[in-house]
Amino acid sequence: MIKFLDLEKVNNRFRGEIDARIKAILDKGWYLQGQEDKLFEADFAKFCGVKHCIGCANGLDALNLIIRGYGFGMGDEIIVPANTYIASILAISENGCTPVLVEPDIKTYNINPDLIEAAITPKTKAIMVVHLYGQAVQMEKIWALAQKYHLKIIEDSAQAHGALYQGKRTGNLGDASGFSFYPGKNLGCMGDGGCVTTNDDDLAAKIRAIANYGSDRKYHHIYKGINSRLDEIQAAVLDIKLAHLDADNARRREIAQYYRQNVTNPQIILPQVYDENAHVWHIFAIRTPERDRLQKYLEDKDIQTNIHYPTPPHKQGAYSELADKSFPISEEIHATELSLPMSPVLTDEEVNRVVEVINEWK
Ligand SMILES: *Cc1c(COP(=O)(O)O)cnc(C)c1O
Repeated sequence: MIKFLDLEKVNNRFRGEIDARIKAILDKGWYLQGQEDKLFEADFAKFCGVKHCIGCANGLDALNLIIRGYGFGMGDEIIVPANTYIASILAISENGCTPVLVEPDIKTYNINPDLIEAAITPKTKAIMVVHLYGQAVQMEKIWALAQKYHLKIIEDSAQAHGALYQGKRTGNLGDASGFSFYPGKNLGCMGDGGCVTTNDDDLAAKIRAIANYGSDRKYHHIYKGINSRLDEIQAAVLDIKLAHLDADNARRREIAQYYRQNVTNPQIILPQVYDENAHVWHIFAIRTPERDRLQKYLEDKDIQTNIHYPTPPHKQGAYSELADKSFPISEEIHATELSLPMSPVLTDEEVNRVVEVINEWK
């Protein structure tokens, strides 16, 4: 069986280090907001090239905290791609803001920068870009729009740890960025985790307080905050794995390159990249009109795949208010996408086998 993602194998590479670091935490008896947190926050900020990293409980909270930190709420609009994991949009509605969905570019699967300006109204406060599948959004036109209309750029970097755009990392391409460390992400912990990165001192201080019961110092509450913290054990695991992130992403690139060069079945649409360093291949997304039949065929040949995602957000029950809107490009992607096995621990033999089996598909 070729697994879509063998997480046990991914983490077992660091088992000795992880065991030792967790043991040290247990010996010390300090579980929240201690040295491990501080160390990881500093290391991840440095990795992204930003001033601040604030650990939190998960990726959804990270996005939620950014919107809350800016004070956006009822009556405010935030632009977001129509094809994303629903968390991006949930963070917007959780704050009472209105998500304004914009179609993706069929070539990159990321928000189409040319369609954003038409969606801007006097109520627009921010553009949320999502570096979907691990490919950094081409920011040039979006930076110009943000400047022209005085909008904040919020990055959803949950799938793109380490991706580069014009020499800068995701997490440093907008005003603030949310990351998820869900176990299956390129940088994943052993449970839930997330963080916000930003260069904005005021926003960073505010988010740190909001995430800790609205408290800037003990028993002193200046906001009606929430409890969203990254614990010491997760921070330690992340700090160990961060040291290997660039190497892991390089291996993902190698696998992606192999898939792209060797999958020759004419029924398959391969993903396109505008710059090799811009993509960290969280997901290797192929498309085919007969997606479900291909998935079943691969399953019969013991190859696990996934669909990211089967139903677009505007067709979900949670967003019935958007049900009558039409986003044909997003719908097309959702109807045809299939994610092939992709992880830094896939072997050459496994990748080769996936290619052979796909090329034999009729
Ligand atoms: C995983 C993910 C999130 C949410 O992260 P969690 O840690 O699961 O809350 C948000 N946006 C995108 C694009 C994601 O892939």
